[in-house]
Amino acid sequence: MRLRTKTGAAHRFIVWAALVCVLLLAGCTQTFATNEFGRLTVVTSTTVLKDLTQAVAGDDVTVISVVPHDTDPHVYEPRPADARLVADADVVVANGANLEPWFTSLTQNASAQVVFIADARPWPVLFEEDGEPDPHMWMVPTLAAEYVAVIAETLADADPKNAAGYWQRAVAKQDVLYALDQELAQLFDVLPVERRILVTSHDAFRYFGAQYGFTVASLYGVSTETQPSARDVQQLVDLLRTQDIPTIFVESTIDTSVLERIAKDANVTIGAPLYGDALGPVGSPAQSYVAMMRHNAQAIVDGLRV
Ligand SMILES: [Zn+2]
Repeated sequence: MRLRTKTGAAHRFIVWAALVCVLLLAGCTQTFATNEFGRLTVVTSTTVLKDLTQAVAGDDVTVISVVPHDTDPHVYEPRPADARLVADADVVVANGANLEPWFTSLTQNASAQVVFIADARPWPVLFEEDGEPDPHMWMVPTLAAEYVAVIAETLADADPKNAAGYWQRAVAKQDVLYALDQELAQLFDVLPVERRILVTSHDAFRYFGAQYGFTVASLYGVSTETQPSARDVQQLVDLLRTQDIPTIFVESTIDTSVLERIAKDANVTIGAPLYGDALGPVGSPAQSYVAMMRHNAQAIVDGLRV
């Protein structure tokens, strides 16, 4: 199943149409000067959203993530300073779909333009677990391109004078993301179908698996809010013993001890850490969304190709 989809094509058209409309309007009104009141302050819930938002907003706009690098957004406990950040922002970008359930309370009294990206689109596949949506749509570059469209819409609404710049950068970023999708698909060509079993700390990779033909399994499920039970552990050990899975993967934001014990019990190796819910710091292999996706793909190929 490829998640490029009808909605992807339609939304891509919408981005272009919006850009053309804004350019036409600008031709009539000459309102392209930088906002005389200064540029926007934008706050995102996670570092992945910060990276995508910065690409659309441009370098002149300050974008701050509430959850730091290498930190789990599912169980993050906001500080008073985070509430002040959100209160002072012009635009707030969050994922929603229960990724960061604690974030809603920070936005309740905010005067900012607030968007929960999961609520802004009818997503082509919204996985669920026990009735809860799987929030990890950004793990597919063509769906991240939809994030970019939502972010551009939100910034353009909040700051119409600079809308053309937002839409132009959104189109450019979407081109990068569609090319990245092709690049990853080609990289995975070396893995036969029976080797495409991806075992990770938690279920951040279901949309990714659907896109690139992987069966996925994890220890924690879709959120890290509850600890895995003895039964969860045993099921994973049984899976590893009955399937030909050479390597399993820990994630940068989640405690590795249980998965390391499982790997030892089942006699499989642990691959290079994957990134999903948070980017790594500057200088790490996952310092941007594109770098993160390339790093993950190479780590998966290296681990499962043996
Ligand atoms: Zn997650």
